[in-house]
Amino acid sequence: MSVAIDAITARPPHASAPAHGLWVDGRDRPARTGSVFERHNPFDGSVAGIFANGGEADANAAIEAARAAFDAGPWPTSSARARHQVLMRAAKLIGDNAQALADRMVLESGKPLRLAQGEVMGSVKTFEYYAGLALAMESSAINERLHDALGLVLREPVGVAAFITPWNFPLLNPVAKLAPALAAGCTVVAKPSHLCPGPTALLARILTEAGLPDGVFNVVTSDLERGAVVGQVLAASPLVDKVAFTGSTTTGRAVMRAASGNTKRVALELGGKSANIVFDDAPFEAAAATAINAFCFNSGQQCSAGSRLLVQRGIHDRFMEAVVGHARKQVLGDPRLDATTMGPLVNEEQHARVMSYVGIGRSEGELLAGGKSDLGGLFLEPTIFDQVSNDGRLAQEEVFGPVLAVIPFDTEEEAIRLANDSRYGLAGGVWTRSLDTALRVVKGVRTGKMFVNSYNSSGLDDMPHGGYKDSGVGREFGLEGLKEYQQIKTVQIKLGQ
Ligand code: NAD
Repeated sequence: MSVAIDAITARPPHASAPAHGLWVDGRDRPARTGSVFERHNPFDGSVAGIFANGGEADANAAIEAARAAFDAGPWPTSSARARHQVLMRAAKLIGDNAQALADRMVLESGKPLRLAQGEVMGSVKTFEYYAGLALAMESSAINERLHDALGLVLREPVGVAAFITPWNFPLLNPVAKLAPALAAGCTVVAKPSHLCPGPTALLARILTEAGLPDGVFNVVTSDLERGAVVGQVLAASPLVDKVAFTGSTTTGRAVMRAASGNTKRVALELGGKSANIVFDDAPFEAAAATAINAFCFNSGQQCSAGSRLLVQRGIHDRFMEAVVGHARKQVLGDPRLDATTMGPLVNEEQHARVMSYVGIGRSEGELLAGGKSDLGGLFLEPTIFDQVSNDGRLAQEEVFGPVLAVIPFDTEEEAIRLANDSRYGLAGGVWTRSLDTALRVVKGVRTGKMFVNSYNSSGLDDMPHGGYKDSGVGREFGLEGLKEYQQIKTVQIKLGQ
């Protein structure tokens, strides 16, 4: 591990430990006001990290550093191979620092260690993928329209990109934006959530170590209150060309409004209430086991959660019995332990909010499992409400915790109608042995991602991710994710003049 990266260690600091600074123009800096904030470990309440509490002036300094690094170069005009090499070195360094990065996520967000390690490996693969695309990027020529003319369609970097990110995937979320932005030649200011800023702060040190020039990647950490101010400054700034936001639909709208001042490009990855649809002819055991992971992964704090389970009536009773059996196998506990599958929720506010939905569930459905936790604290067992109406609050609103609304159905048409009866359209699943049924449902459901006989499966992580309807605008990952950071310039050349 390098000296620069040692700056944030995996160990929880004591209150007297030096604050971890902002990262502006390639240097660690305190906030202008000297203010810091603490993040507490949601498992045991200890201090997990101390961070510089950046405000408006710090945000503007970071934007100016990114603007200068874009306008003066050399990053936007560097060769494809030079960008490829920095991205590959970043992938290697993320892997070398896997333990420190995973420990940061566990300490600050309460995410179980195994999930955090998976997120680190996903981040390595994302950097490698976009390092490959950096070499493969090509503009195009139009040679066929006229004999005495030539057209060129050039791909250029969008410019300065601002990232505003949440806490639930605190490494992969910024990486999904950063890797394509850097491959395209953009410069960046990132604002992580106050609930898990450490991984983004570490990334800045890693990228500098990988050879990224000063000013290309800047990070402003801040507490809850200043975080909203910094987010608004980034979204509104005329020096920023694109804002990429991940978070709640309400905040996403505030970002979009602020961004309208200079009509910058806006990408929003927002909430969801996805339907996981199980037909009578589903592969029964796999569907029952996966239904749990679909809504309990990361303690349900995931935008793509299959938080509505639509079950065809022919297998309903037997299927729910199996699902409840799998729910009981979840291991809640210390997120540092290998055996733990579900950690605590991220903070008291989130826990109280989720518990209020448990109260709503008690009046809107039949409790089959959970609703409490013997561990106390910020834990909640997998909580399953059956016989829920799709019109009620439990089926319509995003809970962002391990709470499932089960909705029985009779026909394929009804399942598609119920799945689409939502303001959201982020993900969904369909379980059946009939290819015809699966494909009709895939085509019928208006959502950005569909899993067939799986849910949240890995291995195809490079495919685009993003939402229909209130779930967002734009795509991350894959080739589409790169195009989001490119402008198109059309050139018309007349020959023989
Ligand atoms: P949030 O909307 O409260 O905060 C997200 C980010 O916005 C944070 O960095 C926060 O500091 C910042 N922010 C807060 N107020 C702001 C303002 N007025 N202007 C600009 N920025 C502001 O969301 P959260 O609670 O951190 O995360 C949970 C939400 O994120 C859920 O709704 C979830 O579905 C969504 N999410 C979506 C995806 C996706 O890919 N679609 C992925 C992960 C999380």
